Amino acid sequence: MSRIIATGAIKGAYKEVAEAERMFSETVEAAGATAAVEFPNTGYYLPIIYALTGHKVEKVEDMAKALELAKDLLPPVPRQGHWVPYLGHTLDAGIATLFAGEIIEGCKYVANPPVDDMWLGAADDVIMRERGVEFVDGTAPGFCALTGIASTSEMADQIVVELLQKNLYVWMSGHIEGRTITEQLMEVDRQLGWDTRIVPYGKEMSATVYSLGFAARAAMSFGGAQPGDFSKILRYNKNRIFAFVLALDYVDEQKYAYAAGAINYGFPTIANTKTPEILPTGVCTYEHVVSDIEEKDIVQKCVEVRGLKIQIAEIPIPMAFGPAFEGEVIRKDDMYMQFGGNITPAFEYVMMKEISEIDDHDIQVVGPEIDDVEEGAALPLGIVVEVAGRKMQEDFESILERQIHHLINGAEGIWHMGQRDIVWTRISKKAQSKGFKIRHYGEIIHAKLINDFPSIVDKVKVTIYTNPEDVEKWLGIARQAYRYRDEKTAGMTDESVDTFYSCTLCQSFAPTHVCIISPQRLGLCGAYNWLDGKAAYEIDPTGPNQPVKKGDCTDEVKGSWPAIDEFVKDKSGGTVESVFMYTMMEDPMTSCGCFECIVAFLPMCNGVMIVNREHTGETPCGMAFSTLANTVGGGNVTPGFIGIGKVYITSKKFISADGGFKRVVWMPKALKETLAEQLEKRVQDEDIGDPDFISKIADEEVGTTEEEILPWLEEKGHPALTMDPMF
Ligand code: SF4
Ligand code: ZN
Repeated sequence: MSRIIATGAIKGAYKEVAEAERMFSETVEAAGATAAVEFPNTGYYLPIIYALTGHKVEKVEDMAKALELAKDLLPPVPRQGHWVPYLGHTLDAGIATLFAGEIIEGCKYVANPPVDDMWLGAADDVIMRERGVEFVDGTAPGFCALTGIASTSEMADQIVVELLQKNLYVWMSGHIEGRTITEQLMEVDRQLGWDTRIVPYGKEMSATVYSLGFAARAAMSFGGAQPGDFSKILRYNKNRIFAFVLALDYVDEQKYAYAAGAINYGFPTIANTKTPEILPTGVCTYEHVVSDIEEKDIVQKCVEVRGLKIQIAEIPIPMAFGPAFEGEVIRKDDMYMQFGGNITPAFEYVMMKEISEIDDHDIQVVGPEIDDVEEGAALPLGIVVEVAGRKMQEDFESILERQIHHLINGAEGIWHMGQRDIVWTRISKKAQSKGFKIRHYGEIIHAKLINDFPSIVDKVKVTIYTNPEDVEKWLGIARQAYRYRDEKTAGMTDESVDTFYSCTLCQSFAPTHVCIISPQRLGLCGAYNWLDGKAAYEIDPTGPNQPVKKGDCTDEVKGSWPAIDEFVKDKSGGTVESVFMYTMMEDPMTSCGCFECIVAFLPMCNGVMIVNREHTGETPCGMAFSTLANTVGGGNVTPGFIGIGKVYITSKKFISADGGFKRVVWMPKALKETLAEQLEKRVQDEDIGDPDFISKIADEEVGTTEEEILPWLEEKGHPALTMDPMF
């Protein structure tokens, strides 16, 4: 081990502790000893101090003890030319530094929280649970605490993209003479924030405590470690969280000191400059500090040093691919071209074929390619996927089809939304300039279906239509298939089964979202019904569709089962505690963002309106679909509003506790037309008892405000007006 780092880290620790002491005195003077000290919305106080010592810092005065603890840990500074051949002193100096860092950041939160347009500061417990669970289930192996700056902004971006491809979170802190890697990334328009997993914590090196504090909280929250049980907390991190420090450019004493803090967790530091190394292993799995690695090789080196095993499918596209890119949004200004989104027709359709009928990897674009259109263009789109495999079944078609959404989104610079015939997808200018072709949609679908569903998929053929005639022709065929799938559950009732199915596929966008799919209520995207949930579970028993045993029912009208509540609570990371299946007014299901329609309560009319995604105009609840979608989506529970699949409208369980279908007072004309046949059939049912009911539902021609439609409803004698108050 190197004597210089030991000396450097220890000297750095002394300086950081002195700085903490200075800020502490200043804070006592300015805010008083009894002022509250807290990171936002957390039950873990200053988490490193709390985790390692059990000491709770709640007030400024509580920091005095923390400061004492830090000072006690400071080892003697080795005399020039002397050093001890073991790591203990360096490790102690590291912990002292982390305590000091938390005191420094804690002081900032007292007077002036270290948060602005660029810096996010500490993550609250909601984020910690949502993201921390990814460390536990392996969705994200861990994080990179990134500090310093790259040689160029482009290089900074390249390094970050490589980290994201390995599904790691990138957490940034520290600067080099005032310049930060966060600024470098902003210069190349990289989107930052929790959604893209690139999180700028803070400009000062002390903000590194947000990374290590997160890890400490994860050990307490997911690892069952008790506060104060430092050995369990550090061991959990070493064994379960794949994290490391990546230091770019000059590593000064202060950075050494924080690196020494990270080594305690088993997190090594990898640097690109010539800095003293600590190679013998001991605390970390392999080396502790490795230096002088070229920027272009550094991410690979980090992965090796930390002992990460990552499996990435090689997808033959000119950009990066991985779940980290799923949260990326492509604004109009950044878009090269688009398909769907009410501008052109666009759909996706998966169908099964016999093995002998298709060739694998037969990918074709029929119609214009990206090179044939100008920037800003919109083309129609039909993605027709033919799948064959020895164990493939027709029932699996819709499941594979529903994958397309998140598969396409995994490509950097490509955005996708919706399913079936309400698809909307964009190719960014960046992707276009890197050589992305429409054909690559097919490459992604081919590679991922083959990789992810090896048990059922042997061959995949993709034909992408971009000319209006073919799109129209195939859209008709696809719609017949959608219809056929929807009708398969037609005769089934919720009472006839003892198990519902969950779907958590959308948690990549909406981490707290859970769809509960019953025979009479399909997933809100409209693409997954109960039979699909069942089939998906058969294909992948550990996948996003799990059986949920109903067990005892505590409220048959509202649709409440304690066993389902428990399941939803668990899968939503504790956010959603109860769900009623048949009412929208109390604990309704969460909404991710893919809903085909939104149902909204209209208080004046004592009823509800339904608006579909395709409808762009205003609606009586005062919001157009897009605004409404922003309010309702994201995995939230919003009483009075639910996202639903179209087919649910004609289900007898459609908000049955609130009065059911008879509550509907407004629907866009086009939606009525799309569902005409099913609606006609529905009004014949006994519980409606009014064959003319459809003609009493207002639409945009009657009005787009409650005031406009109410007199009309009165004139028509709409039943909602005389029903029990809904609210
Ligand atoms: Fe699954 Fe629901 Fe998302 Fe559809 S909306 S994919 S059913 S989680
Ligand atoms: Zn969704």
